[in-house]
Amino acid sequence: MVEGYLKELENCNLCEWRCGVNRLEDEVGVCMLERPQVASTSLHPAPPESYTVFMAGCNFRCLNCQNWRIAHFPEQETPVRGELKPKKLAKEAVSKVRSKRGKMMGADRIFFSGGSPTPSLPYIEKIVEGAKKLDQDIKINYDTNGFMTPRSLERVIDLADSITFDIKAFDDEVHKGLTGAPLEPVLRNAEKLAEEAEEKLWEFRYLLVPGINEGDVEELAKFLCDLDEDLPLNFLAFRPNFVMEDYRGARSEEMEKAVEKAKKVGLCNVSWSGKTGLAGKKDLLKTDRSGAEMAEDIAEKNGCITRSRKCSSCARVHSCEVKNYQAERRC
Ligand code: SF4
Ligand code: SF4
Repeated sequence: MVEGYLKELENCNLCEWRCGVNRLEDEVGVCMLERPQVASTSLHPAPPESYTVFMAGCNFRCLNCQNWRIAHFPEQETPVRGELKPKKLAKEAVSKVRSKRGKMMGADRIFFSGGSPTPSLPYIEKIVEGAKKLDQDIKINYDTNGFMTPRSLERVIDLADSITFDIKAFDDEVHKGLTGAPLEPVLRNAEKLAEEAEEKLWEFRYLLVPGINEGDVEELAKFLCDLDEDLPLNFLAFRPNFVMEDYRGARSEEMEKAVEKAKKVGLCNVSWSGKTGLAGKKDLLKTDRSGAEMAEDIAEKNGCITRSRKCSSCARVHSCEVKNYQAERRC
């Protein structure tokens, strides 16, 4: 018997791919996920301090994925905790947040991340319902790549006290090159969030990949500044990872320059974080190719069969070499 809260997986339209597949009857969409699976859970000291629930699976295929072992479940065959009963996980999460260690860390919320939590949204809603019944003051953070339907965004705004929102690039071709998905729905949702629930926005996050998406920093900052100059933006430093494991990481001077550029445009609340200076055999800045071309080249060299990647309409969507990439680097 199908649990009521999972019924909509019979015709899944949770994210902007709108696959319409029956995930409960062995069909899969771009995320390749059938039933929701919890990858791992842990108390996490990074702000906002939390008990973090990492959901397996993702609707993007980012070349530079930092959580590829769980984002590309089931292809990567990572051990997962599985489909825990929502009530059980709610109880566990509340008790961890309220534990001595959780308090010492300053944790006050359950943080849903991934992969992407959106393919598991109905399951997450059920966990949140259970957690709020146990402790109505427990807070919820939802971490997203922004690629969801307007209806899913409304549901996320309803359930979350804070939202961390990744924008992977500010140029459609660069976004497609890096993630395999178009940019427009992400910006539409960023705008809606900023206009209708700004108080819930923890921060926008932009993973700065030198030579690929750093050229769009000013345009991104202008876009956000036009919405509200006080919107928080955090640049995260690219670390060599997954398909891009051979490329050098972002340097601190590149991060500082990005912050400076965004502030110059008028955005007030800009910062950067992450580990910088990680070495790699290749440097994306040592070429005159555009960021989009570089991303497409990297995808192609690693088995992608199209350019201007749009994974939903690709003949290899269910047998994608990028998703199966075996990274050697384990940082
Ligand atoms: S990619 Fe999105 S719409 Fe498609 S099955 Fe996964 S969650 Fe549903
Ligand atoms: S091969 Fe197809 S499904 Fe795989 S990354 Fe390329 S466009 Fe996407």
